[in-house]
Amino acid sequence: MVELAILSKYPFLNASKEYVTQNNLSIEELLNDPIYKRARTIGVQRIDNAFEKIDVGNRSFASEADCIMELLSYPIARMIAVCINDNYFKKRYALGEAVHAYRNLIDEKLSFLLDVLKEFDINVKYDEEKNNVSIYFVDYLKYAPTRYKEWKMINRSMEKGFIKIKHKELARILQEALRLRINEELDERDCNKTVFDIFSSDIKRIQNIVLLHRKKIEAEPIGKLDVKKLPPCMKDILAAIQAGENVPHMGRFALVSFLNSMKLNINEILKLFSTAPDYEEEKTRYQVEHITGSISSTSYKPPGCQKMRTYGICPVEKIDDLCKKTRHPSSYYRAKWKEGDKK
Ligand code: SF4
Repeated sequence: MVELAILSKYPFLNASKEYVTQNNLSIEELLNDPIYKRARTIGVQRIDNAFEKIDVGNRSFASEADCIMELLSYPIARMIAVCINDNYFKKRYALGEAVHAYRNLIDEKLSFLLDVLKEFDINVKYDEEKNNVSIYFVDYLKYAPTRYKEWKMINRSMEKGFIKIKHKELARILQEALRLRINEELDERDCNKTVFDIFSSDIKRIQNIVLLHRKKIEAEPIGKLDVKKLPPCMKDILAAIQAGENVPHMGRFALVSFLNSMKLNINEILKLFSTAPDYEEEKTRYQVEHITGSISSTSYKPPGCQKMRTYGICPVEKIDDLCKKTRHPSSYYRAKWKEGDKK
């Protein structure tokens, strides 16, 4: 039996779920019984911390009761997250859980990480003699943040389909696998009415915070850029980034190169990305600096409409009359400015 303290630290593990099942705990008890009031309070804390700090937070594990409350706070937080019913929030919550797990996982022994990886069906090989671990390239590509330089395949050596990986990197792989798993699970579930009724004041409070946060993001000027004049394609990519959607590399590339061509500086572009729930400044800065040419010899030009269509990032159902007359998102934007000047 895995220690209770471990289960509380990693409440997403199968053993943690088994603990709850074996103790015959019903959802009704969890939600109503005064014994679990602390678990409910911590559940709300998890939610608040995930949104504000992108980490569900540390609490005391001093007693058995502490551990049980911590463990039970996890399913409660998830049920509340579903009822908040906001895509951006759910993504931010999933990230908060995953980042918290990562911060604990980096201090665990390799054997523990290997067990957790197994639970996530991530194919890794451990060479005891050489004391090195490698990961199957398909899993690597699925979970590694390959948009960053050190994770790019070109900077990795592969042998018979397996890529060598360090201890800390395994924890990062697990962070991503957990984030995706929680995202998926939250998307699949519907809000339970009892959960909504019990936590209604917290749910409404957080919904308001999310709403204010969104309004702040949308009202924030991006350099001299007038967001209202953006072509439909750029509006879509921008909205997806701000809502925490998974924007494909080409979409990010098109937006950054477009903004660069509009003379926005790197900090202004970064500010725009900083509202994404999985924003990591250092890494995003590298990407932006690369596309804009400030750390490479090439400053990439934004793709034209034809290329945007080929990559599936021109929202054909939203194109307007100006789109029909233009061949480049930048020309669209300039034409909009001219239209404005004439009025
Ligand atoms: S037609 Fe061009 S400017 Fe208009 S949405 Fe498509 S890619 Fe963007």
